[in-house]
Amino acid sequence: MGFRTGSGAKFTPSAVWSILSNPLYAGYIRWGKRLKHIEVVNGATVESRQRSDEPIIAKGIHPAIISQELFDAVQARLKSNPRLVSDNRKHVNPLAGLMYCSKCGNVMILSPDIHRNRFFYKCLTQDCPTSGIIADYVFEALINTLHSWLNNICLAPVNSETATDNRNEQKKSAYNIQLRRVAEQRNKICDLLEQGVYSTETYLARNAELEQREADIKNELAALDSQPAPPEERIRGLTDEIKHVLDVWERTTSAEEQSALLRTVISKIIYIKTERGYRNSDLSKLLTLQVFPAL
Ligand SMILES: [Zn+2]
Repeated sequence: MGFRTGSGAKFTPSAVWSILSNPLYAGYIRWGKRLKHIEVVNGATVESRQRSDEPIIAKGIHPAIISQELFDAVQARLKSNPRLVSDNRKHVNPLAGLMYCSKCGNVMILSPDIHRNRFFYKCLTQDCPTSGIIADYVFEALINTLHSWLNNICLAPVNSETATDNRNEQKKSAYNIQLRRVAEQRNKICDLLEQGVYSTETYLARNAELEQREADIKNELAALDSQPAPPEERIRGLTDEIKHVLDVWERTTSAEEQSALLRTVISKIIYIKTERGYRNSDLSKLLTLQVFPAL
């Protein structure tokens, strides 16, 4: 949101938490939340302020800037959503900015379930029919996809795709022949004008026609060139990277490492899952990932 603290820094999650939980804003004063504690250590006094579990809260004489109801509602919400700051700091979503919801197009969020010590991928869009899944299923599906790329594309004999390439090459050379013909015709009408066969009007009209034709052919050629390489071709170009990811994946320990590895072979993932699934259903069957190779 771009709000800054008084000192110009970005709000940290703990700063926001401390503001939200401070009764000052509801017209109270809080005393003793952190009791001053003085201790003598190695001959020097050390002052510290310790958190007290029982601060004294009294109605202050300053006006409240938020209502009691709102303050109470925020406190209830904070209690139901315990602080995850320390976990969040350590935690990185390896698929940040890579995986999108098939229904609404939003990024899929990695969200912790602290009670069970596991993570879920979820779409946070309100009313989006996409249903979340335990993160491990997503990684399993990704690794399966990489295995299938390696076995079915990288290591498979090349045939149909080179056929597509050849078709493109054939089209290109046909267009280039047409371009040369147009250039010859333009020279010819120039001659005809000089020889007095064409009037100026006829020449200009004919020339305009040929110019248009030349522009059309050039457009067709540009369109052929700008077509991205088909995915199979890109995947084949990533053979070494895919092998490397599969080799080291089991040994990667940090989310940062996983993230860097996956980005060498994947450019985008579409997450498709609308069925919730029940206790004994095989969740991996309900999940479909559309995986796009790195460019
Ligand atoms: Zn969604």
